[in-house]
Amino acid sequence: MVSRVLRGRLLLDHIGPTYTEVLKRQMESSASGAQDRLINKVIDKGLCVACGACVGLCPYFHYFDGKVLAMARCSRDTGRCVEICPLIDRGDIALDKMTSDVMNTPEIGPYKKIIMACSLDKEINEKAQYGGVVSSLITYALGKDIIRSAILTDAGDGYAPAGTVARSRSDVIGCAGSRYTASAGLEALNMAIKTGEQKLGIVGLPCQMEALTRMRHMGSDGENRANSIVLKIGLFCTWALDYRSLFADLRNRGLREPILKCDIPPPPAGVFQICTRDGWREFPLNDIRPFIKKGCSLCQDMTAEWSDISVGAIEGIDEWNTVVLRTDLGLRLMEQATEDGVVKVDDLPKKNLMHLAEASFNKKERGRLTRGEIR
Ligand SMILES: Cc1cc2nc3c(=O)[nH]c(=O)nc-3n(C[C@H](O)[C@H](O)[C@H](O)COP(=O)(O)OP(=O)(O)OC[C@H]3O[C@@H](n4cnc5c(N)ncnc54)[C@H](O)[C@@H]3O)c2cc1C
Ligand code: SF4
Ligand code: SF4
Repeated sequence: MVSRVLRGRLLLDHIGPTYTEVLKRQMESSASGAQDRLINKVIDKGLCVACGACVGLCPYFHYFDGKVLAMARCSRDTGRCVEICPLIDRGDIALDKMTSDVMNTPEIGPYKKIIMACSLDKEINEKAQYGGVVSSLITYALGKDIIRSAILTDAGDGYAPAGTVARSRSDVIGCAGSRYTASAGLEALNMAIKTGEQKLGIVGLPCQMEALTRMRHMGSDGENRANSIVLKIGLFCTWALDYRSLFADLRNRGLREPILKCDIPPPPAGVFQICTRDGWREFPLNDIRPFIKKGCSLCQDMTAEWSDISVGAIEGIDEWNTVVLRTDLGLRLMEQATEDGVVKVDDLPKKNLMHLAEASFNKKERGRLTRGEIR
C-alpha cells in the first residue's frame, strides 16, 4: 500500500499547473450527476466535515492535509458518494437503530447499559485521552481475534491526522489520544476493504458511524462492505475543527508543531489546550470557535448512536470514560474485558447521566434548527 506521505507527495505532483488546467476543463464539461449533487450541496457550501466516507469509495475524491477534494468529475446519475455522505438528508436510516430489547431515549439513542470505566493498562493510560477505554478495548479485541485489524486515526506526523490500519498493540497505542480536527478516517476503511481486509474494528466520530450505517444501505456491495466491519466504537463529539485554518492561526501565535496532545476541559474552563515539545499552551475557546467545521452545526448526534459502544469524557472525573453499551457485542466485549482485568467499571453518577442527556438533546435541537435554516 502507498504510504500516506508518499500518497500526499504523488498528489502534490499532480496538482501542478498542467494538471489543474486539465481538471478545470474536465469539471466545466461534465454532465450533472450524483457527484454534482454532493459537490453542490456539501463541498461547495463548505459543509463537508471530512469524515472520509466518500474518499477512496470512488477514484475521484481525495483527502490531503485536512481537506477532501474532488479531483475529477463523474457524470453517473446514481453515486455511492451521495448515498454515504452524512451531510445529505436521508430519513430512512434512523430505523436501523431500533431494536426491541434496548432502552431507547430520544437524547442518547438506543443502549443496553451506561456505565463509567477506565483502562487498567499503565502504558495505555499514559497516552490515552481520558480513561483509555477505547485503546484498551481495541487492543483486547485484537488480542482475542474478535477483530484482525482496526481503523484508527493517527497523530498526523507533520500533516493533518488521517485514518490508518492498526494491527498491533503498539499501533493502537501510537494512535491513542484525541485529535480535535476532522481527519477523514474512513478513507483508510475504504482502502482496507479494497484490499480484502475482513474482521475490521473501527473507532470514529458520530458522523463516521452514521456513514457506516448508510454504507449498509448501498445495495449488496454496500452490505458486503459493511459486513467486513465487526466492531464499531464511536466517540462522543460536539464539533471538530478544520485542520488547515486552525494550524495557520496557531502558527501565527508562535506555536510549533508537532502537536503531542490537545484537550478541551469541561465548562466553565472555556479553553483549548495544546501540548507541544515546548510544553502546554492554552487558548480561549472563543478564539478557536471560528475554526469549527461549518457542517458540524447541522449534526444531531453527540453520542455516536450507530455504534456498538460509544465513549466520551466524564465531567469532573478525570481519567475515566462515560461508556454507552448499545449492542450485544458491545455489552459482551465490555464484560469480558472487565473479567480479564483489562478495564474496571463503575456506576455512572446520576448527575453525569442527566448532564449527558441534556447536552445531547441540546445538540439535536441546534442541529435540527440549523438544518432547517440551511436546507
Ligand atoms: C473531534 C472530537 C471531538 C470530541 N468531542 C467530545 C465531546 O464533546 N465530549 C466528550 O465527552 N468527548 C468528546 N470526544 C471524545 C474524547 O476526546 C475521547 O476520544 C473519548 O473520551 C475516548 O477517550 P479514551 O481515553 O478512551 O481514548 P483513547 O484510548 O485515547 O483513544 C482515542 C481514539 O480516538 C481516535 N481518534 C483520535 N482523534 C480522532 C479523530 N479526529 N477522529 C476520529 N477518531 C479519532 C484514535 O484513533 C484513538 O483510537 C471527542 C473526540 C474527538 C476526536
Ligand atoms: S462529509 Fe464525508 S462523505 Fe460527505 S463530502 Fe465530506 S468526506 Fe465526503
Ligand atoms: S459534530 Fe458531528 S459532523 Fe461534526 S465532526 Fe462531530 S460527529 Fe462529525
